[in-house]
Amino acid sequence: MLPKEDQVKCVDGLIDAALECRVANTKPKNFDEWIMRMTGEGVANIFMRPYNFKVWAVPTTKMQAEWLGERVAAPDVKKVVSNVILNKVAGNWGPNATFRFPARDGTGGIWIAVSNTLPEEKKRYGKHGAVTRVDAEKKLVTLGDGTTVGYGKLVNTMAIDQLAEKMGNDELVQLSKGLYYSSTHVIGVGLRGARPDRIGDKCWLYFPEDNCPFYRATIFSNYSPYNQPRDDVKLPTLYLANGQKAASSEAKEGPYWSIMLEVSQSTMKPVDEENLLKDCIQGLINTEMIMPEDEIVSTYHRKFDHGYPTPSLEREGVLKQMLPKLLDMGIYSRGRFGSWRYEVGNQDHSFMLGVEAVDNIVNGAVELTLNYPDFVNSRANTERRLDASFDFGSAASKATTSINIPTRERSGSKVSAPNGLHARQGSKSIQ
Ligand SMILES: Cc1cc2nc3c(=O)[nH]c(=O)nc-3n(C[C@H](O)[C@H](O)[C@H](O)COP(=O)(O)OP(=O)(O)OC[C@H]3O[C@@H](n4cnc5c(N)ncnc54)[C@H](O)[C@@H]3O)c2cc1C
Repeated sequence: MLPKEDQVKCVDGLIDAALECRVANTKPKNFDEWIMRMTGEGVANIFMRPYNFKVWAVPTTKMQAEWLGERVAAPDVKKVVSNVILNKVAGNWGPNATFRFPARDGTGGIWIAVSNTLPEEKKRYGKHGAVTRVDAEKKLVTLGDGTTVGYGKLVNTMAIDQLAEKMGNDELVQLSKGLYYSSTHVIGVGLRGARPDRIGDKCWLYFPEDNCPFYRATIFSNYSPYNQPRDDVKLPTLYLANGQKAASSEAKEGPYWSIMLEVSQSTMKPVDEENLLKDCIQGLINTEMIMPEDEIVSTYHRKFDHGYPTPSLEREGVLKQMLPKLLDMGIYSRGRFGSWRYEVGNQDHSFMLGVEAVDNIVNGAVELTLNYPDFVNSRANTERRLDASFDFGSAASKATTSINIPTRERSGSKVSAPNGLHARQGSKSIQ
């Protein structure tokens, strides 16, 4: 619960925002303006600005607002005020109120199962199958082991900046420098003991504060009993959360529980990679997620170089040049970083981006997910199933003619020259 003074600041800001909303007749120029218009200064300063900087690793003023689409409803000020006075928790948690998660093998299990539906001889996982060169003129892809694969149309899911480099196309490489991304560190901590009651059955928690490096903690052991060792599995304690040695190095039984943490990184938000695991464990203590004497039985740290595709102010101007240029060469660049649109960059979206690219190649069907993010994000897909055939003749044309697809302003921004602070130099990270 926020301190009373902060509650007042939040309500004040919400009232100001609601009043200003009545007279505003322009769209917010950036994400920061959007936040101010939606929530006002109190919520902006206490949560939205610090939290979003922790997630995106760029200030909210450097991000556009279109990625949020039309789907985020303005807060109901009356409801907020009555909830604050009555000390009530808001009831409606939106589309994530309930969700499905695989009992075994995590999310990766889904994609291994999908991959298993493909014939073995068509798969080239590993270094030998990595794409080293794309020759768009000869329509030839060279793989790590030197083999070449010819194509008519190419669906690419590697990051579009890396594709440009593999193509050796200077124009595309230059354009791609206007796209920004942040890196993501994923940290896992396995603990001995029963999951504390103060955490309860929560699935994930958000942390805008600066007393911990992570912006989100996921309690993976709450998702499935198979996400942690069984109670009778014996594991030694690596060390205590406060860094001290455990009293004994003997392997002991559980129970166990586990936490996954996410930390963003960019040159605007550097991270001490060497000490990140240690800093995260200290952050868990600072936020009272764990206690200093808790026994740590396992740790995990992995960095994803391309973590989040930033919805920067420049993004649409770049994509609107790059994607059509590639398409003219028969290349469909799709996926989280293939088409670089965060709002359609989750797993379900990325899968459909691929499905629809192939549908477009085979049947000329409209690529809804790529081109109409607001439309796909506001409805459930009930018509296109992996295990069922699809009648493109009627459904595809119905989707584009009888349903009123919302238009999206996409032409506004021009590619701006990389501006010292924010531009990506080379293909590594936000500068
Ligand atoms: C920290 C984090 C949390 C996330 N949480 C969620 C979540 O809760 N829910 C959700 O739905 N999504 C989540 N996502 C997003 C999810 O991971 C992506 O939507 C999904 O992985 C995108 O799939 P993709 O195929 O487009 O790209 P990727 O999964 O990035 O696949 C691209 C593939 O291309 C390969 N590749 C690159 N270069 C080459 C080359 N030269 N040759 C051959 N192969 C190459 C890469 O190795 C990679 O396997 C999260 C992502 C991150 C980073």
